[in-house]
Amino acid sequence: MDVSALRADTPACESVLHFNNAGAALMPVPVQQALRDHLDLEARIGGYEAHDAAADACTAFYTEFAALLNADPAEIAYVENATRAWDMAFYALPLEPGDRILTHASEYVSNYLALLQQAKRRGLEIDLIPSDEHGQADAAAIEGLITPRTRLIALTHVPTQGGLVNPAEAVGAVARKHGLIYLLDACQSAGQIDLDVRKIGCDILSGTGRKYLRGPRGTGFLYVRRGLLETLEPPFVDLFAATWTGPDSYRLRPDAKRFENWERYVAGQIGLMQAVRYARAIGLPAIESRVSSLADTLRDGLARVPGVAVHDLGQRKCGIVTFTRDGMAPDDITSALRAQGMNTSVSLMTSARLDLEPRGLPALVRASVHYYNTDDEIARFASAIAAL
Ligand SMILES: *Cc1c(COP(=O)(O)O)cnc(C)c1O
Repeated sequence: MDVSALRADTPACESVLHFNNAGAALMPVPVQQALRDHLDLEARIGGYEAHDAAADACTAFYTEFAALLNADPAEIAYVENATRAWDMAFYALPLEPGDRILTHASEYVSNYLALLQQAKRRGLEIDLIPSDEHGQADAAAIEGLITPRTRLIALTHVPTQGGLVNPAEAVGAVARKHGLIYLLDACQSAGQIDLDVRKIGCDILSGTGRKYLRGPRGTGFLYVRRGLLETLEPPFVDLFAATWTGPDSYRLRPDAKRFENWERYVAGQIGLMQAVRYARAIGLPAIESRVSSLADTLRDGLARVPGVAVHDLGQRKCGIVTFTRDGMAPDDITSALRAQGMNTSVSLMTSARLDLEPRGLPALVRASVHYYNTDDEIARFASAIAAL
């Protein structure tokens, strides 16, 4: 990987040390350019007219994502963020009172809120997959929890609040064996881990544009397996998702676009398409190995600073590094770093109750690295933490 060229494509690398890639990564120049070009075109010729002129780039959105995920273009939808993408699929599932859902303590907060709401409203039951000795979802323990009423496994691949990578493929094997629907939140893994929906065996996968994919804010995507998607009635339909075929009838689109809206951020769709193209040109296996090796270096560097504790769980770890420092609140650490041009974020217990509360961690500093970060930045960061 030509890291200097990739940094040159990311001008902000000159002015900030960006370890907030799990929040929003820096967009590369081709993505910024695609956004600007489309906004300029809209200003020059009109929004609808610009959309027509950009038809090929919009179509490429589906083929790029299909190639990224080893899916079919008809299985891909463009949605405004990962939460709504996940919701569009989850709220479409035909779950009945008494049906049971399997999930894990690492589940993303907004997904868990939706599970709680629907459990209350529809009389569903939530069962927690236990963690293994590494703190990740224990795939081997799932079979013992499956009942005749179990319908769904909802899993977050990489939690927002820690570096662990859940064993998505092992969970997929159990889901397939028992005919359970498998909904995978890949929001933090898309763009940093090589994802293959056929290998993982998930039926549904959701993600966002702005995190490891380095796309624009306000963009997301959804994959739904063919064979399942035709059976799902989206929670909302509009004139794009469906055709009004008669006074009393409508017909849904046959493909995953039934989960989309008509009105959309077109520049964002094109920008995200460019981001996927950019990532694929570098290669996901190369990205995955560089990101995890930089994160390992960062964990080692932080662990050597007196008073610092690194909190990442998991047998396999990724680019997200979480830590605390004795005697200093995570918020104060993040602000002090921000003042020095170093970007990190804070993960709160209220966003990860089932994970951080039992571990007695009210808040963590999250430092998330991407392939354009360097060993030199990691060394500077560790020194800054030591000097706080
Ligand atoms: C950020 C995040 C989300 C939500 O993504 P949005 O695009 O903000 O809706 C969902 N799941 C995980 C694991 C996340 O980290």
